[in-house]
Amino acid sequence: MSGQTRNEQYEQRIGVLTSGGDAPGMNAALRAVVRTAIDKGVAVYAIYEGYKGMVEGGNRIRRMKWEDVGGIMHRGGTIIGTARCAEFRERSGRLTAARNLLEHGIDRLVVIGGDGSLTGANAFREEWSGLVQELAERGEVPPTLAQQHPHLYIIGLVGSIDNDMYGTDMTIGADTALHRITDAIDAISSTASSHQRSFVVEVMGRNCGYLALMSAIATEANWVFLPESPPNTDDWESLMCRELKAGRESGRRESIVIVAEGARDRQGNPIKSDYVKQVLEERLGEDTRVTILGHVQRGGSPSAFDRNMSTLSGYAAVEELLKATPETEAKLVGIVGNRIVSSPLMYCVQQTHAVAEAIARRDYERAMDLRGSSFKEAFATLQTLVRGAPHPPQAGQRRMRIAVLNAGGVAPGMNTAARAATRYALDQGHYVLGVQNGFIGLIENDMREMEWMSVEDWTSVGGAELGTTRKIPTGAELYAIARNIEELQIDALLVIGGSEGYQAVLRLTQERHTFPAFNIPMVCLPATINNDLPGSELSVGADTALNGIVEVVDKIKQSAVASRRCFVVEVMGRYCGYLALMSGMATGAERVYMHEEGITLADLQNDLEHLIRGFRQGKRLGLLIRNEKSHPVYTTAFMSELFATEGKGYFEVRHAILGHLQQGGNPTPFDRIQATRMATHCMQYLIQEDPKPTPGSGFLGRTGASRVYPIEEWPRMVDFAHDRPRSQWWLEICAPIAKALAKPDPDTPMGTVHGFA
Ligand code: ADP
Repeated sequence: MSGQTRNEQYEQRIGVLTSGGDAPGMNAALRAVVRTAIDKGVAVYAIYEGYKGMVEGGNRIRRMKWEDVGGIMHRGGTIIGTARCAEFRERSGRLTAARNLLEHGIDRLVVIGGDGSLTGANAFREEWSGLVQELAERGEVPPTLAQQHPHLYIIGLVGSIDNDMYGTDMTIGADTALHRITDAIDAISSTASSHQRSFVVEVMGRNCGYLALMSAIATEANWVFLPESPPNTDDWESLMCRELKAGRESGRRESIVIVAEGARDRQGNPIKSDYVKQVLEERLGEDTRVTILGHVQRGGSPSAFDRNMSTLSGYAAVEELLKATPETEAKLVGIVGNRIVSSPLMYCVQQTHAVAEAIARRDYERAMDLRGSSFKEAFATLQTLVRGAPHPPQAGQRRMRIAVLNAGGVAPGMNTAARAATRYALDQGHYVLGVQNGFIGLIENDMREMEWMSVEDWTSVGGAELGTTRKIPTGAELYAIARNIEELQIDALLVIGGSEGYQAVLRLTQERHTFPAFNIPMVCLPATINNDLPGSELSVGADTALNGIVEVVDKIKQSAVASRRCFVVEVMGRYCGYLALMSGMATGAERVYMHEEGITLADLQNDLEHLIRGFRQGKRLGLLIRNEKSHPVYTTAFMSELFATEGKGYFEVRHAILGHLQQGGNPTPFDRIQATRMATHCMQYLIQEDPKPTPGSGFLGRTGASRVYPIEEWPRMVDFAHDRPRSQWWLEICAPIAKALAKPDPDTPMGTVHGFA
């Protein structure tokens, strides 16, 4: 290997570019592509300024080193720039681009961009052999070089805040954009409510109403206009005014209307924010303001989800590229059901265009079909939740009395779930009892009947309005609960919370033979920041806690610029390492300690040596994230002192125990959306089980599949000693990748540690 880095021995060379509209998370994808390639011994080049840089060549195409992508994950936008490029739309531009790539021996590309960029990439790939031949004939590239690169291999990652791409549940940047929109609308709501004003808020999305729909669910907006599903009447003005008026009459202090920028009516005419304002002012006499959120939606630090999804996708993109053969078609790497998957790129692009075409043809049913069932379901749910009042019950229908309570530690999103559950049930003609303080309220008969407006404004509020406790009823308490269920004629139970709730529901179910009152449908909605419940992949609250941790760790890292410092950050999770690993991946921590992997003295010694070597050679910052229960003896204090003592002279150590800030805060958009969906599914389950002689009792699994597992299965799925699922889906997927990307540069002399973030 003398004088040569590992990379130079290899033939494969990868180019990576960001193109089209920028999106938060592109940097994390870039970092993952660069580091995975280097880790696999492949040379990687960044193509600056998108296709423009590819056409311009020269120093727009630069070999990347491990540390070139350090410390970029928390930054919005893309550090390698992006652009629109008219020349690349022409064959002549693509010919020049091909020459520039060949100059560096690059014939594998990761293109991070929207459907335009990916369409362009595919056109380029299809033409490649012709372009190469022409360049060789013209003498612009040596014939041997042309022969070495007969094919172009393409992997696309979708960078687009609109979430407008078929083939992936989420595009890079969409979750962050939702954060920006939700924060803005939360702020607007508080001022609107103070003045009893109306606001029309315009959000991005030309052909895709994802941001509009999801932000409406996440902010309790009162009306929404989407491109794919216009109001089903030509006189939508009257319909909207009637609903908003009903809302005001039932006590709402403000009206918020969200308009997607591509919104239209059934005839295909655009619905503009200013016109909506005019309608509200003229017909309802409401003081109305318009806010166009614009580019704020694109900006800012990426959310934890965007960083992690981009990291996993970038890693997968390189793996796919390296195993591609001349027969492999261009692929899109995205996320489906929390798993990274690859699909044929052009099929995804065509399906995406099909939505735009359906909208242009005014075939809105087809447009909604193409968006998929969960989009449709979310829209249906929203239409229920935004109502000013519930539908009146149907004549002669059975009206259930459904009790709703929280259990376990507080999780942001509990209120969101309680609100959605309450409104869904009321709209179906049922009664809802809000139980205070979890099972204590059920024992002590501390509950109240919930009305439509009792849960107004609950969506965005952290904490638990109904209160929550870790109480699991036993002995005489079970008797008290049975008596209350009978006296109050409770027909069903929704328990929102963590494992205490699951244990309580299991106990009640097992006691059905002693207490016939327990023979009612019961369901647990997974809500805990720890994400340690079996069946569900992401419990309500985990995303908020994760983002809270990431935000604080970003700040902690910034605080260390001037000194050589190593931080040991302790995060919650009980015995589940989810928060530790995911926050470690999102912040580029070089080491994550989890109970699942254990810690040995040898590990600590190794880590210490690694730190000392790193700081000796110029490293300025160390970041170790430790799950609170990762080891009973090697505690955060112990580790900090050990590292401080042994590392004296090389670096200082500080530790931070993040504590309860992780349970606080308002829920993130994802937690609000997830809580709303799950609550609806839980209510549907309770209603469906009600007529059965032995109604089901269970816990909600993954939404989408909307599976309710019988509660008896819970003990089999849990590792009781550690109160976490026996199998944890994220562990195998994420741990090796997080480790691979945060380790020292494999190409530098033994042990040199660069900025690792
Ligand atoms: P996005 O990728 O965000 O959809 P654009 O549609 O503006 O953004 O595309 C970005 C760039 O991709 C364009 O400026 C152009 O260089 C290239 N591009 C888009 N469509 C094509 C196409 N059909 N053929 C070749 N290049 C294209």
